[in-house]
Amino acid sequence: MTAQLIDGKVIAQKVRDEVAAQVAKRTAAGKPQPTLATVLVGDRPDSAAYVSAKQKACAELGMGSVSHHIPANVTQEELEKLIKKLNTSKKVNGILVQLPLPSHLNEERVLQLISIEKDVDGFSPINIGRLAQKGREPLFVPCTPYGCIYLLEQAGVKIEGANAVVLGRSNIVGMPAALLLIGKNATVTVCHSRTRDLPAVIRQADILIAAIGKTEMVRGDWIKPGAAIIDVGINAVPVLNPDGTPAISEKTGKPRQKLVGDVNFEEAKEVAGFITPVPGGVGPMTIAMLMKNTLRAAEIQQQ
Ligand code: NAP
Repeated sequence: MTAQLIDGKVIAQKVRDEVAAQVAKRTAAGKPQPTLATVLVGDRPDSAAYVSAKQKACAELGMGSVSHHIPANVTQEELEKLIKKLNTSKKVNGILVQLPLPSHLNEERVLQLISIEKDVDGFSPINIGRLAQKGREPLFVPCTPYGCIYLLEQAGVKIEGANAVVLGRSNIVGMPAALLLIGKNATVTVCHSRTRDLPAVIRQADILIAAIGKTEMVRGDWIKPGAAIIDVGINAVPVLNPDGTPAISEKTGKPRQKLVGDVNFEEAKEVAGFITPVPGGVGPMTIAMLMKNTLRAAEIQQQ
């Protein structure tokens, strides 16, 4: 292995420890506990798991959380009423609406409603607009891309002047990651499903952020020797027995699964200079950065 592993678990824990220390300091000074309101619409198991992990993190870091779990058939009007209530609540510093919302709801209108001072996910058009403009500062940066850049910086990767390729242009990962890299003076290429000759584009990258959700699509020979690879992808694949048959869990009787990224780790680690594993790379950073943003929200609102 030539690449240095960027350990997201260790770096995320450092962020969490710093946030917990700041929270304890504020509480000791008699300031109210920073509090995150989570809004979960419907019963998607993955969304429920993410929300519960976020609430658990709040408790572990000495922060408060208020949970709103509402039925999937909620109307747009009812959901908007809840957001307006949370916007004015003195108890709530950050509002997190777990995405995706059921398809009958207008996500854009919901995100637009969240007060910019409480937009700890950083998805409101004002925060994203500020991220896109030179000389403007968003109050909050979306957590996953924020985590990606933080990992690069902690690993000592030079962003300024680097050729960076962002694979994926979603609102929540690819596009804000590209904007952040531009803000840090990288030269950025954004690739997507219509990009021609992806391997050739990626071979130019000193930094690659891969966020497409396609199992191990980026191969080792697409990577520039010494490049820094941040793999955002989370893909579940079956675990196989040595004879190639699917491994079955003794506990559940169901086929076992494991998580892999958008980059073929085994191949890439022999070429890259730095690489994040999946799991244990970007994943833990997302919640750590949400906690950092929630603390910041409290600091902005309760100076
Ligand atoms: P998304 O909204 O589905 O966007 C995927 C992007 O990848 C789109 O821009 C799409 O292009 C592009 N794409 C898809 N197939 C491609 C291909 N064959 N070649 C080139 N580009 C392709 O996904 P997302 O929400 O950004 O998530 C991406 C991955 O990151 C997923 O695996 C997700 O689970 C993971 N994720 C992880 C975290 C974390 O905390 N670690 C957080 C969020 C997401 P078009 O725009 O042309 O369709």
